[in-house]
Amino acid sequence: MLHNAGLAVTLRKLLEQQKLHFVFQPIVDMARSTVLGYEALMRGPAGSALERPDDLLRVAKHCGLASELEIAACKGAIREFSALQLPGKLFLNLSAPLITAFGREGGGELLRCAVDAGLSPARLILELTEHERVEDTAALQTAFAALAGQGVGLALDDFGDGRSSLRLWAQLKPQVVKLDKFFVRGIHRDSRNVEVVRAILNLCTAFGTPLVAEGVEEAEELAVLRDLGCHFGQGYLFGRPTACPDADFCQAARAVLQSSKISVLPNSAPRPDMAETVGRLKVPAPTIAASACNEDLMQLFTDHPDLQAVAVVDKYYPVGLVNRRNFVDKFAQRYSREIYGRRPCTLFMNATPLRVEASAPIDSLIAVLTGDDQRYLYEGFILTEDGRYAGLATGESLVRAVTERRIEAARHANPLTFLPGNIPITEHIRRLLDAGVSFAAAYFDLNNFKPYNDLYGYWRGDEMIKLAAQLIVAHADLSQDFVGHVGGDDFVVLFQSEDWQQRCERIVHSFNRRARELFDDSELARNGFESEDRRGFKVFFPLTTIAAGVVPVSDGRFLGPEEVASAAAAAKKAAKQSGSGVKVAGGERAPVLMMATG
Ligand code: C2E
Ligand code: CA
Ligand code: CA
Repeated sequence: MLHNAGLAVTLRKLLEQQKLHFVFQPIVDMARSTVLGYEALMRGPAGSALERPDDLLRVAKHCGLASELEIAACKGAIREFSALQLPGKLFLNLSAPLITAFGREGGGELLRCAVDAGLSPARLILELTEHERVEDTAALQTAFAALAGQGVGLALDDFGDGRSSLRLWAQLKPQVVKLDKFFVRGIHRDSRNVEVVRAILNLCTAFGTPLVAEGVEEAEELAVLRDLGCHFGQGYLFGRPTACPDADFCQAARAVLQSSKISVLPNSAPRPDMAETVGRLKVPAPTIAASACNEDLMQLFTDHPDLQAVAVVDKYYPVGLVNRRNFVDKFAQRYSREIYGRRPCTLFMNATPLRVEASAPIDSLIAVLTGDDQRYLYEGFILTEDGRYAGLATGESLVRAVTERRIEAARHANPLTFLPGNIPITEHIRRLLDAGVSFAAAYFDLNNFKPYNDLYGYWRGDEMIKLAAQLIVAHADLSQDFVGHVGGDDFVVLFQSEDWQQRCERIVHSFNRRARELFDDSELARNGFESEDRRGFKVFFPLTTIAAGVVPVSDGRFLGPEEVASAAAAAKKAAKQSGSGVKVAGGERAPVLMMATG
């Protein structure tokens, strides 16, 4: 408390003596590679407890000086910015009560200060911070309109932060929205953030509002944002906030903006398919009432010879499942009929069968497949709707449905290597073709992998595939080269690295060397191994190696992703036939023709 009281005194003095100073951070137009303007950020005396803006604001609020601080900050920022003679707009941070107050006075003190400093009001953009302090939206809306009438721009700060709201965007119609850094940091590694930014950019189009991405620190983040079509950027990569910034922004960011290469987007998991529900597996089947006896149940099975199981229901609610084979076997025993015939049909039922709501997604059944209770495999399971009996489903249909989902998932990401599968590979080729950039499509495939797998078994086969994946990834530049796993021992790399040929050769050499470690001494001694060929004959094979076929693609040579993929596959075939490690397809469209005829 004492400490705070001390700080309050310090803050008062600081404001009286105008000891606040400012740093400015550039905001960059991504399409034009120019500076749009600078955000002013206040600082207290260096090294003091009030240096950081958050501390200044906290103490000010605590001792009722919040407005004084904010007013002093924007006036000070206007003066310093004007003195620095920086180009473009000045972005100022302001809370809702102050914007409302300025708006009410038609700009008042704020505009007078700007005009005095020789700064046109049209160069000001007020960032609405701390959205939680918006109490009177109507008054703020009026203020926004009044200020816009004076030429002052308005921005919504930290959009996407817990406190910001889409409603404010719709109501206030700001000229700019600033996206919170949460969605920007690591966007090249997180497909969900890519989707969020895509969705927000769609909103920007709908509302006609450009977006500033805040907190851009890495080149890979910027490349993704640029390719998504984000309008403006701010962050350490463009420039740190400083007291006298350059009129330009950082070279590293400029290089990304001007690069003709496209970014490699993070791989996305297949969307959980909410439409694919367990209900699809439903087979209508008669039920038996829990009050019925075993004689009745026997009669039901006799009347319906295809029925593998019968659900026992109490009113509408399934209470158990009777399997045909179990039941008929028991009933066929001597005297069974006499002993059990009049007893209730609940006697031989499984009282804990698998029960699933028809509206549950198919994906939710994966856990069943790996669970301990596997009775559903032969007796099937019960489907319910709102808890009531709806029908039966077979174990086989469940296994098939889950397997189909797994295969679908593998087309997005390979379950062994986690590398992107066919769908993202095709998408990336399409993006490369659409952008008209040069790239090299390389197809990697192992020689003598199948006989290796036959000789040592699947587990060691998997190790061989993982080794290939690991070395391909290690020799690619993941910021510009896309590594995909088509399936089995087939990989595709879409290189934007200019030195793709050396990279391919390094992959081949390192793999051929390291793959030896996965053979036993006896095979190494003979430099090969005996295994069965495709017809089942024992044949001697050389040690497993890797081959690559590469198709260089430059503007306009290919019509679509399929054509690129089959050209690369054909080049790989040629590489295998010629026994060379890396084969580069030369000439026009020869590889495609080769595939068509052979
Ligand atoms: P803000 O408005 O979101 O400002 C951006 C903050 O992010 C600044 O922190 C800035 O230095 C920081 N930043 C910029 N680029 C990067 C980046 O690439 N990575 C990371 N991690 N951070 C980056 P700062 O200067 O500490 O300001 C913090 C907050 O204090 C501001 O958040 C703003 O809400 C408030 N503030 C700062 N100056 C003023 C002011 O003059 N008046 C008012 N009312 N509030 C201010
Ligand atoms: Ca801000
Ligand atoms: Ca911000």
